[in-house]
Amino acid sequence: MHDILPQDQPLWEKVRKIMREIADFYNFVRLDTPILERAEVFERAVGEATDIVEKQMFFVQTKSKERLVLRPERTGALTRAYIEHGLSQLGSPFRVYADGPMFRYEQPQAGRFRQFHQIDFDIISNEDDPIYDAQVILVFCRLLEALKIKNLTVAINTIGCKNCRPAYRKELQNYYKNLKDSLCGDCLRRLEINPLRLLDCKQGKCLELKKDAPIIIDHLCAPCHNHFKAVLEYLEELSLPYNLDHHLVRGLDYYTKTVFEVFSQGADFSLGGGGRYDYLIELLGGRSSPAVGWAAGLERVIEVIKSQNINLGIKSKPKIFLIHIGDLAKKKSLLLIEELRKADIAVTESLAKESLKAQLRVADKIGSPLALIFGQKEAFEESIIIRDLKTGLQEVVSLKKLAGVIKKKLR
Ligand code: AMP
Repeated sequence: MHDILPQDQPLWEKVRKIMREIADFYNFVRLDTPILERAEVFERAVGEATDIVEKQMFFVQTKSKERLVLRPERTGALTRAYIEHGLSQLGSPFRVYADGPMFRYEQPQAGRFRQFHQIDFDIISNEDDPIYDAQVILVFCRLLEALKIKNLTVAINTIGCKNCRPAYRKELQNYYKNLKDSLCGDCLRRLEINPLRLLDCKQGKCLELKKDAPIIIDHLCAPCHNHFKAVLEYLEELSLPYNLDHHLVRGLDYYTKTVFEVFSQGADFSLGGGGRYDYLIELLGGRSSPAVGWAAGLERVIEVIKSQNINLGIKSKPKIFLIHIGDLAKKKSLLLIEELRKADIAVTESLAKESLKAQLRVADKIGSPLALIFGQKEAFEESIIIRDLKTGLQEVVSLKKLAGVIKKKLR
């Protein structure tokens, strides 16, 4: 887990601002869910035989012994909220987004934390139309492009549906059964319950074995085949750069048909991933509503922005600096700041410092363009000295005219 320090906040805020603009343009509405959820939301949604549910959830102890967890991901929570509030009434498609902290008990390493932040975009609709798969991928790419992240590629695959996946599962099981001695403990255990998970294992030996594992494309039913073909055609129409990755399955059980991950060349990790989850809403008790979405990791996005030396034009409004000399001026300073605030003038101070020199030093350090020097005489006369900190030129202005003069000078 990590702190986000003041010097990083402007970049975080800028990324979120661009996220909100993209959401607004593409008609996604915001839906925030609590950080705590009942464990079963994820046990049922993400699946029992996944890393998240088996090993990574943080349980919260409560007096009444409820099984609550810190949310490890958002789709389960979004689905719970969608059903609970009858959001299908808002019409179809329901385009929804959010960002916030997620928690997974992982082995911390580059790009992998125990508390991290995700941006999530989802489309829930009455139809499993492949145009929405393409649209969520488009929105993801547009967000990353708006953040000026270079060299994007989308790794994409389909994992079929209830009808065609069982035959593929069987073939995978047969393939791996002959290699049992080389599998890691987790894969050995999952071979019976969820063989698709084996394709997601990051252990060296299992990664090696994956290379020759069967691929689903040979087993797809006609609707899944046509669906995937249509998704790829839309991506081509949009000129979005994609690579087929026939072994991409993603680590969560709720996916069906399309799955994808987005990379920026040079980074060792994916910036985000997602896919279609057509059965999840029904599984959690709602009406059958196909859906597709993705999650991006904010820490990873920020890391790539920094490593690619991207300039997002983050500017802070220059603040003028109020200097007081003497008790009377000090006493009136806070009210004077209030007056400037009403006039929408950004001002800062270091009122506990008494000497002119010490206060000027602070003004210089933060790069203020102007200082206001408020002394005993000025406090009596309801005036103030404006000092241009670049040229050193000063002038006396009445407090009544102050806001107007400052605005003119800052312009
Ligand atoms: P997932 O929810 O596992 O599909 O992950 C989607 C995205 O969230 C990943 O591509 C990462 O960008 C981000 N992410 C997932 N787990 C972590 C983590 N432990 N630390 C940082 N980012 C993560």
